[in-house]
Amino acid sequence: MLHVNENYARIKPTYLFAEISSRVAEHQKSGNAERIIRLGIGDVTEPLAPAVTAAMHKAVDDEAGRENFHGYGPEQGYQFLRDKIAEIDFAARGVDIKPNEILVSDGAKCDCGNIQELFSNDVKVAVTDPVYPVYVDTNVMAGRHDITLLRCGKENGFVPSPSSCDADIVYLCFPNNPTGAVATKAQLQEWVDWANAGKRLIIFDAAYEAFIRTDSIPHSIFECSGARTCAIEMRSYSKTAGFTGVRCGYTVVPSELCAYAADGTSVSLKAMWTRRQTTKFNGASYITQRGAEAIYSPEGMEQTKSTIDFYLENARLVREALASLGYEAFGGVDSPYVWVDVKGPSWDFFDRLLKEANVVTTPGAGFGAAGEGFIRISAFNSRENVLEAIDRISRVL
Ligand code: PLP
Repeated sequence: MLHVNENYARIKPTYLFAEISSRVAEHQKSGNAERIIRLGIGDVTEPLAPAVTAAMHKAVDDEAGRENFHGYGPEQGYQFLRDKIAEIDFAARGVDIKPNEILVSDGAKCDCGNIQELFSNDVKVAVTDPVYPVYVDTNVMAGRHDITLLRCGKENGFVPSPSSCDADIVYLCFPNNPTGAVATKAQLQEWVDWANAGKRLIIFDAAYEAFIRTDSIPHSIFECSGARTCAIEMRSYSKTAGFTGVRCGYTVVPSELCAYAADGTSVSLKAMWTRRQTTKFNGASYITQRGAEAIYSPEGMEQTKSTIDFYLENARLVREALASLGYEAFGGVDSPYVWVDVKGPSWDFFDRLLKEANVVTTPGAGFGAAGEGFIRISAFNSRENVLEAIDRISRVL
């Protein structure tokens, strides 16, 4: 008989966005809906930078001729992109990451989900609560049961401390989705010291790194001393450069990073991740990687920065509007997400904004129990829509 992986029955149904869609559809059917403004799902709205599309058009021309045609590329990514990442994302910030420690992929979601394959099923995992659900669900699918939730609330500024954490692996994401919180270097250093002291691992998701504008906030876990022996970092071009539909990101695994076999022998995680990717992944497309390379050109950097500045201004407008209405609003400074204390059940507040303001947000309870009492408002929308949403919300509240 064909047996299924019963761990799939242990994953919570993808309740959140399905439930939001069904409530929005219900509201639209009621006949009371004006034009709906969506500040819910974290997808970008601004188009790709001209420098990126020009590079992609040129890459299409390469593929159209015999001279520069590219078939299968290196599974780990083209050297031209890995070199630029090492130079601009890391060396320019004083961080020593070698191009061969960078593995290009088709986005951070896959890498965040796949990385757990490298570890035994009895490792203890810790995640924040609220959390980006991929970290939890992929570990549950793999059959892991020991998953600790690290509460992130107002009392700790939405940044957990390692003091009572006895996990083998912790997933940290800063700037955070959904809370918009950032971690200081001292806070990340505490986690690095904790990890090194116990042969543990930090999986650091820096998907929103490009939104950091506060100088003292680290962009990479590798800005902390000792992180090379205890951390893996994921990056994504989705929010950095509007690549949600193009698909590209990368994972950094330092050469000296190890995990241990049952007999105590150390095993290189870079070698394992390279083996995993070269076996199960055939590389991001040449056209995509040429587009990603163009993000690092002077024009590409300027254009992508101006788009992020635009979203950050949206975030500021939302945060300040909510604050002026008497709501405590967090995040939205070095992050595209504003996390609002709604002083009551998050689904009720969501319904009120949907039904009375025709604005879609995301109820915090959908990201975990500690998200109850908050909603996430995303800054990914046009200025016109953000201003209109603020106006409608102000009238309702
Ligand atoms: N990590 C976090 C925290 C995210 O919020 C997202 C997307 O929303 C991702 C990773 C996925 O990024 P990508 O589009 O590169 O798969």
